[in-house]
Formats: sequence, structure tokens, C-alpha cells
Amino acid sequence: MVRVLVASRNPGKVRELDQVLRELAIEGVELVSLDNAPAYPDPVEDGLSFEENAVLKARAGAAATGLPCVADDSGLSVEALNGMPGILSARWSGNHGDDAGNNALLLKQMEDINQRRAAFVSCCALATPEGDVHVAEGRWEGELLREPRGDNGFGYDPLFAPDDAPGRSSAELTSEEKNARSHRGKALRELAKHIAALE
Ligand code: IMP
Repeated sequence: MVRVLVASRNPGKVRELDQVLRELAIEGVELVSLDNAPAYPDPVEDGLSFEENAVLKARAGAAATGLPCVADDSGLSVEALNGMPGILSARWSGNHGDDAGNNALLLKQMEDINQRRAAFVSCCALATPEGDVHVAEGRWEGELLREPRGDNGFGYDPLFAPDDAPGRSSAELTSEEKNARSHRGKALRELAKHIAALE
């Protein structure tokens, strides 16, 4: 059994990776959450891209615990805003995790803009204590709505209309529907082959 640390405080992410591993029939991997690993200081997320942040989180987890470590960094990339909020997605309005404030600011900035293409992007990294690193990126393409719709999900979900769910926002999808389509699901499925190859 290979133990793999998932460097996230969000239990949903551990569940999602677990689901992907089962879906791909990858056996012999035990996922360890941060709560079940020796505590270590959160690394400063000072990377300039999703990839840099995912890699620095995965490397920090592997170095601190001696376990292979998976970490992700994600956000919303709006074409008309040159890819922003991007790595600043969680704190776009100034306060980390203020979803309502972030959504309100984004809607205001996009008020007069008709070019509404956007994508959720997720970068997932696997780092081993020996220093190997693998990275996978997933994108979920769609358009920004003009007002929030739906109560599921989190973050910018109520403002995002995915191309592959016509007529619905991503906050109107069930978690199964979202995981099957989402940026993070795609990145995790891609990374899973490297997890399967761990010894
Ligand atoms: P994190 O990488 O999970 O910390 O996500 C960064 C930020 O990106 C979140 O706080 C959300 O604002 C946004 N985000 C990332 N993935 C999603 C998603 O699936 N739905 C909605 N917002 C997302």
C-alpha cells in the first residue's frame, strides 16, 4: 500500500481524488489527509502561476512528511480580463474566501463587456520525497453569466455557464455532474496515472 498525502484542508478534494482513483480502478493507494499527517507550516503561496503554486504546495508536503504528496491550485480565468482573477481568484475582492464579494466585484468589472468567455483551471501536482514532480492541468470552458444562478458548489460556480451543460450554471449541477466535467476532475484523472506508478 502506498500512502499519498493530499495537501488540502478541504475534505471534498480528498473525496474527489479517492473517487477518481476508484473510477480508474487504481488500487494500493491510501490517501492521507492533512488532519492525519504530522502538522507542518503552510507554505507561502507566492508562485506566479497555478502550476508554481501547486508544485510548491506538493513539494512542501512531501518534504515535511516524507510521503508522496498531491496538491492543487485552481481559479477562474476570464478572457476579457487577460486571464484574471487567475491565481488571485480566492481573494479577488481583497478578503480570502469572500465568495459573495469576489462574485460581486467580477460582475461589476464585466458589466459593459459582452465577450464573456471564461474557464475554470486546475493545476494538480504530485511531488515525491525523492524530488520527482509531475504536473497535470485541466480546463473547463464556458461563459460568464450576468447574474448568479444556483445554490450548489462554491466560489464562482453561480456565475459560470459551462459549454458542456447548456442552460445551467455550474452551481446548478449535482456534485457528480460537476466532477465528471470539471477542471479539477480532468487534472486529477491525468495525474492519476503518475499516482498509480508510485511504488
Ligand atoms: P483553491 O485552489 O481551491 O483554493 O481555489 C481557488 C479559488 O478559485 C476558489 O476560492 C474559487 O474562488 C475559485 N474556484 C476554483 N475552483 C472552483 C470551482 O470549481 N468552482 C467555483 N470556484 C472555483
